[in-house]
Amino acid sequence: MIVDVCTNVRETLQKINIKGEMHFDIPLSSLTTIRTGGPAAAAVYPRLFRDITELIPRLREAGIPYTVMGAGSNILADDAGYPGCIIDMKHMNRMTVRGLYVCAEAGIRLEQAIRRTTALMLSGLEYLSGIPGTIGGAVACNAGSFGQEICSLIDWVDYIDSEGYLRRFHRGDAPFAYRCSPFQTSDIIVETALRMTPGKTSEIVSRISRARSEREKRGHYSYPSAGSVFRNPDGIEITAGELIEQIGLKGYAVGGAQVSKKHGNIIINTGSATTGEIKKLIDFVRSRVQEETGILLEREIVYLE
Ligand SMILES: Cc1cc2nc3c(=O)[nH]c(=O)nc-3n(C[C@H](O)[C@H](O)[C@H](O)COP(=O)(O)OP(=O)(O)OC[C@H]3O[C@@H](n4cnc5c(N)ncnc54)[C@H](O)[C@@H]3O)c2cc1C
Repeated sequence: MIVDVCTNVRETLQKINIKGEMHFDIPLSSLTTIRTGGPAAAAVYPRLFRDITELIPRLREAGIPYTVMGAGSNILADDAGYPGCIIDMKHMNRMTVRGLYVCAEAGIRLEQAIRRTTALMLSGLEYLSGIPGTIGGAVACNAGSFGQEICSLIDWVDYIDSEGYLRRFHRGDAPFAYRCSPFQTSDIIVETALRMTPGKTSEIVSRISRARSEREKRGHYSYPSAGSVFRNPDGIEITAGELIEQIGLKGYAVGGAQVSKKHGNIIINTGSATTGEIKKLIDFVRSRVQEETGILLEREIVYLE
């Protein structure tokens, strides 16, 4: 069934003559940090926001589903693949700096942005050091770490809505929340202006090193993963990782998917995991936590299906 759908998407996209780089039957395991997922029917790689404003109405007219992807570090893609078009932002990776303001296109990697701002003695992003995502993904998910969230830096965000129109969101237009942004799933963030603060290079660098070594301790880089599986529960002191650890699930595995032995809220792909196994493990952990503690954990990882 999915093979037929992919063939239709491919034929339709070839007919409507989309501008720019486009690939077909892309394994999602190659686009996600947890390294699982079947083929996406197509992927396009815009270079300019106009490529996207032209693309969206065409995809909508043709009835082709689409989704935007940054570095795929928070995404769990279905084993059956995705019967639509991935808009991969990796070529939209320019960044300009004016005084304390950094304008970053959505596809620039956080690490690259942090390297450049550190060299300019601009502080603010270093708390996110070691997160393997893009600026666009970080804004969409309101990424945060060590008590800091990216929303505190945002001045404005340019995005393309579901009709294909370019719009500007200004700080304060709508609230961000813990791992939540006001952007809808169909909005495509193209550029963000961040207001940084002046800092001393040595202090910024030392915060970066602390963040990285903390992540290494938590085993973030030992195996492929998609970061934290669950949000920390509201209104209580204990984290999702601590709850999972307390009920003895660290190291618990389903096939190639395993709750990390170093951190309860991370599921790793030990080599041969499928998304099906990871989802089974997520469901199991969630229901065990609920049975044992009465707390229903909410998923942070995004399912792409
Ligand atoms: C080892 C590891 C450690 C991590 N640590 C942290 C952490 O400390 N804190 C934290 O918050 N997260 C963490 N994460 C999760 C993840 O890296 C972040 O949420 C990151 O910001 C996601 O960025 P991305 O570009 O990979 O987004 P993706 O995974 O590609 O996408 C995630 C979601 O954002 C949407 N999206 C992506 N780009 C855009 C765009 N341009 N416009 C609109 N929507 C978009 C996607 O459609 C999807 O719904 C970690 C992940 C890993 C693997």
